[in-house]
Amino acid sequence: IDTLPGTLVQEMFSLGEMVTATQSVPDELLQLLGEHLNFTISVVSPEEEDKELLSQFGIDLEKNNSEMAPRPPVVTVMGHVDHGKTKLLDAIRHSNVVDGEAGGITQHIGAYQVSVEHEGEDRAITFIDTPGHEAFTAMRARGANVTDIVILVVAADDGVMPQTVEALNHAKASGAPVVVAVNKTDLDGANPQKVRQQLTEYGLVAEEYGGETMFVDVAAKPRIGMDSLLEAVLLTADAALQLEAPQAGNAQGVAIEAHLDKGRGPVASVLVQKGTLRVGDSIVAGAAYGRVRAMLDDLGNRVTEATPSFPVQVQGLASVPMAGDVFLAADDDRTVRQIAEQRQARRRAAQQAARVGRATLENLMDKIAEGERTTLSLIIKGDGAGSVEALEEALVGLEVPNDVQLRVIHRGVGPVTENDVNLASAGDETAATILAFNVRAEGKVKDMADREGVDIRYYSVIYRAIEEIESALKGMLKPEY
Ligand code: GDP
Repeated sequence: IDTLPGTLVQEMFSLGEMVTATQSVPDELLQLLGEHLNFTISVVSPEEEDKELLSQFGIDLEKNNSEMAPRPPVVTVMGHVDHGKTKLLDAIRHSNVVDGEAGGITQHIGAYQVSVEHEGEDRAITFIDTPGHEAFTAMRARGANVTDIVILVVAADDGVMPQTVEALNHAKASGAPVVVAVNKTDLDGANPQKVRQQLTEYGLVAEEYGGETMFVDVAAKPRIGMDSLLEAVLLTADAALQLEAPQAGNAQGVAIEAHLDKGRGPVASVLVQKGTLRVGDSIVAGAAYGRVRAMLDDLGNRVTEATPSFPVQVQGLASVPMAGDVFLAADDDRTVRQIAEQRQARRRAAQQAARVGRATLENLMDKIAEGERTTLSLIIKGDGAGSVEALEEALVGLEVPNDVQLRVIHRGVGPVTENDVNLASAGDETAATILAFNVRAEGKVKDMADREGVDIRYYSVIYRAIEEIESALKGMLKPEY
């Protein structure tokens, strides 16, 4: 059959659907078109596609029939800048490391585990060692949900701030229960009750007020209240979550951090979610593969195996995976290599498709001309709060054509970051354009933007930025190469 876009558009028309050749259409419509042309069209999500790939190798991630056993909760610490996330992670860790213990020096491998005595039992808790919601959202964007519980840190002298709310929303979106650490209670201006009161507005009601959220007053700097906080995490885990995992069988989990080490080559910190990972296992993490040569725990000790929720740093991969990549062990080297190679090919194809399909400033007008309803989403980054605000105000005040919607989805002070690019590319159809006012993007951020098809535009005068957006809206923008 003739599958030229024009023909397909005609066929769609005969089905009563007015579409253009470059428009994306709902899955159901595609299937209808398929039936009409005597084809069976199945729409496959990337997750399903990957499942399909794995099944070709006889791998089913859902299937691990080994015995279930309780596993430690995995916790991420989030909150407003300077409210004490880093200090809290340090304090929790140090309250638990006995000086002079074997290994002794703590290693930053992206996560650590502490053990707590709880109701007469020794219980472990795993902490993701990167505070803040950037890593959390980046991982979730890649489909990796590792966090069971969120500790929301709020400084008692400062109260609820914008990033507190942002963090809270991320936690809600992920479905993870929240424990609130009311920090800096050692300061004179501390008002822990006010924090409780403020957070009720966001649906977090303290237990003592009849709600379901545990609030714990702490002071991370002098390390006060850490035991109560850990206790609250375990109580919340036991009340709200059923945390168990199969303990044996081929390991699977998530890479939480990875880099190229000068001496040791690619190293990746992984969190096992099911099964047991062992030295000598053949593994594939995203599009990277290899054989586990050595594993280190968070104290730098060599370990030979890792069970669910136990974080380890793995050596032996041939390349560096991305944070959030799912990893799994398989029976032999050949399998993991073939899986990795097929994923590499798919990633390249997907990136290509993303670049073609997205609305950039340049093709905005084409889309409008084709009668498509288009949203121009913008992210504004600048060197000062004043300039960012001024730019946003001017842009929001612009007159826009009827079928275009202009939205500022994020603004902030500072250079363009990976998080901005993540956010820009997170939308379903159109990537947001990033306007960088007197700020730059680092090399690796630029690379990422290229990969994701995100357009970053640089300006040093506000009116130039406004002029350019205005011309884009009017369809007169000259391409920038
Ligand atoms: P983050 O940006 O949330 O990671 O915050 P940091 O952990 O870097 O802490 C910000 C500042 O607050 C640092 O100067 C800390 O020493 C200080 N700080 C953190 N916790 C406490 C606390 O419990 N009491 C006091 N007095 N200062 C604290």
